[in-house]
Amino acid sequence: MANPKPVIKYTQLFINNEFVDSVSRKKFPTINPSNGAVITQVSEGDKADVDKAVAAAKQAFARGSPWRAMDASARGVFINKLADLMERDIDYLASLETLDNGKTFESSVGDIQASAATLRYYAGWCDKIHGNTIPSDGGKFTVTRKEPIGVVGQIIPWNYPILMLAWKWGPALAAGCTIVLKPAEQTPLTALYIGSLVKEAGFPAGVINIIPGYGPTAGAAISEHLDIRKVAFTGSTEVGHIIMAAAAKSNLKHVSLELGGKSPVVIFDDVDIRQAAQIAYNALFDNHGQSCCAGSRTFVHANIYDQFVKVAKELAMKRKVGDPFNSQTVQGPQIDQEMFDKVLGLIKSGKDEGAVCECGGEREGNVGFFIKPTVFSNVKDGMRIAKEEIFGPVQSILKFETMEEVIERANNTSYGLAAAVITNDINKALQFSQSVEAGSVWVNCYDAITPQTPFGGYKKSGIGRELGEDGLEGYLETKTISIRVPEI
Ligand code: NAD
Repeated sequence: MANPKPVIKYTQLFINNEFVDSVSRKKFPTINPSNGAVITQVSEGDKADVDKAVAAAKQAFARGSPWRAMDASARGVFINKLADLMERDIDYLASLETLDNGKTFESSVGDIQASAATLRYYAGWCDKIHGNTIPSDGGKFTVTRKEPIGVVGQIIPWNYPILMLAWKWGPALAAGCTIVLKPAEQTPLTALYIGSLVKEAGFPAGVINIIPGYGPTAGAAISEHLDIRKVAFTGSTEVGHIIMAAAAKSNLKHVSLELGGKSPVVIFDDVDIRQAAQIAYNALFDNHGQSCCAGSRTFVHANIYDQFVKVAKELAMKRKVGDPFNSQTVQGPQIDQEMFDKVLGLIKSGKDEGAVCECGGEREGNVGFFIKPTVFSNVKDGMRIAKEEIFGPVQSILKFETMEEVIERANNTSYGLAAAVITNDINKALQFSQSVEAGSVWVNCYDAITPQTPFGGYKKSGIGRELGEDGLEGYLETKTISIRVPEI
């Protein structure tokens, strides 16, 4: 059951299984995006705190430590236990997420279920991570071992605070790494509560540490740290550049990046228009448009364009915006003032550049960061709304005529996270799927993201993959051991 006023239990840093103040004793506010009010003050981590957390994680990773010495299967038991505890407290956690992030209570519940599923998927991997025996030249007996990379830093965004944590923790823990996580400054509360569950689950001290704080301070301290062997980041492409440069300048730590997108949804003229419009609607409006893989360029075949726009407008106008704790609501507020201003600015640019604003196009109400579901037709490739990541509830509908043309236009972006094609023609589906430059391609569906399936971007949408076996690889080193065999 949703509780719009969950008690805030944890606001300090989580280091070595204890909640502690930051070294500076500084705090920062976390804001309720539904009304702009301060929810609470949270301890603000900075370099000195990251140093403490890394020292704890390093000790937890030391040879012979409880975490290193335990059976791989036992790691899986801990990870499963954490998933169980998150589900036990799902009402509380989902309420806290909705308060801090503004997504609907139902979405928060869905995120926690998906997080538990992700953790359980990786729990199953723990004792199935193995190398090869290799028939190497020279008569040696050669095996490879897969070993954990070591202490990893993880920097996550505010759009899926719990889910991004699970995507990062699952493979890192399965591999046997230890963790320093920085949640986004907008949404630190649920990660801290999950810190208490880490302790309750019985993870050895120092395996997981959580440092809330800002990007240029705490985040930079992670990406520059000499004792961190890998940094995993989800967020903007702009910050992805900074993280990679910091990794290069410091200790050449491994880097995985999950960044922005401008994902095309291509709709051919052989489809049921209502069904196709519904898929495109979900692709864009889910999570208030605040999704890295949002289908933010809807390409519709010229033969059905006008009808499609009509249905898309109908769907958007029916969308109920408001209090995310109300079970009728499907869209809450955008995350903060900055994103609210950014989205409204891009909406204005769409109007100024000649796109037709079919509906929405302004804020909803006058309290909080709510924006009306917005649909633009007559969108041209050169417009800012067709090129830039909006990260808001703004659907841009473009017109196309041929397969060749739409492949060219779909790929004409520096991003490459996801793409979808909606058609009943298998040849069109195959041709598009194979030609589009994107890490995930969805045919007649969208957001088919599961713990088992790799997810990540081409081009400036990122480096590396999360989820699935590929996601695990990012937390492992391969060691080759060659043993001389005495001749008989
Ligand atoms: P951001 O990239 O600034 O923040 C993401 C995380 O990175 C946060 O934890 C932040 O504190 C941290 N960070 C920021 N600067 C850093 C630095 N110099 N060093 C290390 N860490 C740093 O994202 P944002 O400002 O919250 O949103 C801006 C844009 O990012 C959005 O408009 C959207 O386009 C994109 N975004 C993408 C995703 C995604 O899932 N790919 C998520 C959130 C935002």
